[in-house]
Amino acid sequence: MNEEEIKKKLTPEEYHVLREKGTEAPFSGQLLHETREGVYTCKVCGNPLFPSTAKFDSGTGWPSFDQALPASTKLVHDQAYGMERTEVVCAKCGSHLGHVFEDGPTNTGKRYCMNSVCLELAADEGKKK
Ligand SMILES: [Zn+2]
Repeated sequence: MNEEEIKKKLTPEEYHVLREKGTEAPFSGQLLHETREGVYTCKVCGNPLFPSTAKFDSGTGWPSFDQALPASTKLVHDQAYGMERTEVVCAKCGSHLGHVFEDGPTNTGKRYCMNSVCLELAADEGKKK
């Protein structure tokens, strides 16, 4: 997929966050209170990124995860805006997803702070409790 095709596939806000490293407004994301089971995938390329079991409520206003699927993401040192942060990008298409912090509440110690607009939930529809 080239950049022009990606642009057509996404809304302007999605494009800004994913391809221009934007950040959605906190508490605006549709996946913030999503509780269905499944796998969160990259909005651009469909790469599976986070299992729903890794999701937790961090109170920050962005969907948060304590771990990513192995080799699904790449970490990039980010010094934008004078802050030292670790950017998380999709390992397959390089799209910006969010940042990861070392203050997670679970035993992984990680807090993947993601933008809802970068993710899509592939829900396990058949799995009814
Ligand atoms: Zn991707």
